Amino acid sequence: MKMRRGIVAGLLLAGLLAWSAPGASQKKLKVYISVDMEGIGGVVTREQTGPEGFEYEQARKWMTAEANAAIQGAFEAGATEVLVSDSHGNGQSLLLDELDPRARLIRAWPRKLGMMEGIDETFDAVLFIGYHASAGQRHATLAHTMSSRRLFEIKLNGQRVPEAGFNAALAGHFGVPVALISGDQTIIAETRRLLGDIEGAEVKTGIGTVARMMHPSKAQALIRERTRAALMRLEEFRPWRLTTPVTLEITFKWERDAEAAGFLPGVEMVDGRTIRYVGRDMVEISGLLAALLHL
Ligand SMILES: [Zn+2]
Repeated sequence: MKMRRGIVAGLLLAGLLAWSAPGASQKKLKVYISVDMEGIGGVVTREQTGPEGFEYEQARKWMTAEANAAIQGAFEAGATEVLVSDSHGNGQSLLLDELDPRARLIRAWPRKLGMMEGIDETFDAVLFIGYHASAGQRHATLAHTMSSRRLFEIKLNGQRVPEAGFNAALAGHFGVPVALISGDQTIIAETRRLLGDIEGAEVKTGIGTVARMMHPSKAQALIRERTRAALMRLEEFRPWRLTTPVTLEITFKWERDAEAAGFLPGVEMVDGRTIRYVGRDMVEISGLLAALLHL
């Protein structure tokens, strides 16, 4: 009896220590994960990227599994909170029931902060999963910028940006650095040209407009490992802060869209397909883009 009481007391003490020690020493690490679909391993044509394609349901599973790999890697590296943005198509491609329950999820549109809805200054790191190159790039899977149907090019302060650049500037507005991008080799290189040597998980290799794939389990393992590596060297990454005010230039695919956007106060026409708007900061710029894309 005495012996048992001692064991119970010992267990209680050990339990208390185990419970309190990490809590006392654990630093807050809030991670924001924006997940697109075109850069997910296995995805290569529109047969995977929309509900009308024969392989969309399978691609949703790959996308969810890659998001989970990043979430898992983040928690292994000490994350205390993870917010995920479903940033593709209808904003409802990730399979909620299969998503790691430790994360929370942003779904559907419209959102003023677009693919970065919910980001704020309390976050410590951003991860881009399943991202793709900007329109016009070679050796890239499903290259486009924001809208394959309506937009050709976006420039911020005169510099052409892929979605990863636009979203990095939004995170930068809130002082949050990007630590990792996954997708093909072309978007990893494009993003590194803007942000420096962030971690990259090359889950496929673009060859023209097709791609060489690896098995999904390998792509997921790579993302998990690169996420851990990225968060371990988080102090090396700096937020991508643009000088303000921010000049946005959008080149549409069709002249009529540019012409109509040019009717808005403060928006000027640069040429038949390009408009320019000078915004206070990235939040205002993002709001204008969201309005143009969702009307
Ligand atoms: Zn995209």
